[in-house]
Amino acid sequence: MSDITEKREDEFFQDVLKYFDRAAKFVDVSEGLLDQIKYCNSVYRMKFPVKMGDSYQVIEAYRVEHSHHKLPTKGGIRFSTAVNQDEVMALAALMTYKCAIVDVPFGGAKGGIKISPRKLSADEMERITRRYTSELIKKNFIGPGIDVPAPDYGSGEREMAWIVDTYATFFPNELNASACVTGKPVSQGGIRGRKEATGLGVYFGIREALSIEEDCKAWGLTPGMAGKTFVVQGFGNVGFHSAKFIHEGGGKIISIAEWDGAIYSADGINPHALEAHRIKTGSILNFPGTTNVDKYAALEIECDVLVPAALENQINAGNADRIKCKIIGEAANGPVTPEAEAILNAKGVYIIPDIYLNAGGVTVSYFEWLKNLSHVRFGRLGKRWDESAGRNTISVLEDMTGRRATDSQRALIERGADELDLVYSGLEETMINSYNAIRDELKSGSGIPDLRTAAFVVAIKKIVQSYNTLGVFP
Ligand code: NAD
Repeated sequence: MSDITEKREDEFFQDVLKYFDRAAKFVDVSEGLLDQIKYCNSVYRMKFPVKMGDSYQVIEAYRVEHSHHKLPTKGGIRFSTAVNQDEVMALAALMTYKCAIVDVPFGGAKGGIKISPRKLSADEMERITRRYTSELIKKNFIGPGIDVPAPDYGSGEREMAWIVDTYATFFPNELNASACVTGKPVSQGGIRGRKEATGLGVYFGIREALSIEEDCKAWGLTPGMAGKTFVVQGFGNVGFHSAKFIHEGGGKIISIAEWDGAIYSADGINPHALEAHRIKTGSILNFPGTTNVDKYAALEIECDVLVPAALENQINAGNADRIKCKIIGEAANGPVTPEAEAILNAKGVYIIPDIYLNAGGVTVSYFEWLKNLSHVRFGRLGKRWDESAGRNTISVLEDMTGRRATDSQRALIERGADELDLVYSGLEETMINSYNAIRDELKSGSGIPDLRTAAFVVAIKKIVQSYNTLGVFP
């Protein structure tokens, strides 16, 4: 089955506008301010030549800054042959709303380079990434206080390391140069926990939704992750880490889809073992204990939670009526089109929207940016102090009770938080609070139809507030 209908090139941004307009009806604010919020402030389309082998290839690329209501702007860079202006604009807009929902003080932005990383050598990727960075520098589209890129589909730590190195070469006196991009390797100023942050955030978000008894009852589920069945589309950064944390949290992954096909097992798939298999064979297919299935058919397998973690438009009018899950956790950006959403809402499928669910990446990117600006690792100042406070507590308790603490009790109380502990804890706090804020908006009795609209309402209210305090709009 491969009847996933491709969307036209100009539809994704229109979809975001539709979601925005639907939510704007629930916010009392002037048309002018709504227009100021929803359109893209700056769109930079570039073409640059890069030497590939013996010849030059002209590369098409973009950087879009959607909203400057807070600076810097922030958003990943997508490396894909499907990149186009509409897509980058839509993704930049989603970043604005995402940042507002999780209280990350950035405007939204996004970048795109129209290439296929799979077909390029590391040398070619490096030349393209460095040249793209210098184009951004030339036009003032990058900088710790201007616009801070991050990884997205097709890019990762390696590309971010080239970006920061190029930026630092151009600005040798810039003390905060490492804050010009996030998602860097730890050795280049990155933060522990960034790589897995989006997937971990997806897990925290789904776990929170499944912890509310009243909602689970309405979906015909018992509360909690244990035993719930999951299908994951995409086994890249976000898909792998979502699957890993869901599996470790007690969920059962029954199917995983990739670009070259999908696998299925009613007994569950261990993502760690699957990753080892992919490293060995180059594909997730033919994984022992599973059967190969069509990659689009995988989306239609009956399960409790479907987690699309690949690309946009994957669930659309062409397949929505065949989707048989109770919950869709949008780990990717824009995986469900508005037409599909209408069909799914009518079927009672609960959609946890992208602008909330995949915000873990930008949340931890914010922590990384703060680390870079403060020039100190989180936990460095407090860890040993906390440990000694724990030791003192134990000795006072031992004196008072006349009993000695066991080794495990001692380890529990004596432990000081390191960088990874603090990042995970800050991310968990953010995902739980933000979920409950958007759910409260949904349940506020104002007639908001679904969680996506509620999330947009929360975002619009927060952005409006920041304009109001500036006195820019009445
Ligand atoms: P990635 O490149 O690491 O992984 C994407 C995976 O999807 C790849 O393994 C690719 O082979 C696979 N894929 C492509 N087409 C597919 C298909 N038709 N069916 C199944 N799998 C397919 O990218 P990523 O960083 O994991 O991003 C995935 C999604 O998550 C994107 O929508 C991105 O915008 C979004 N996102 C990423 C981050 C982040 O921190 N990386 C943050 C927020 C949102």
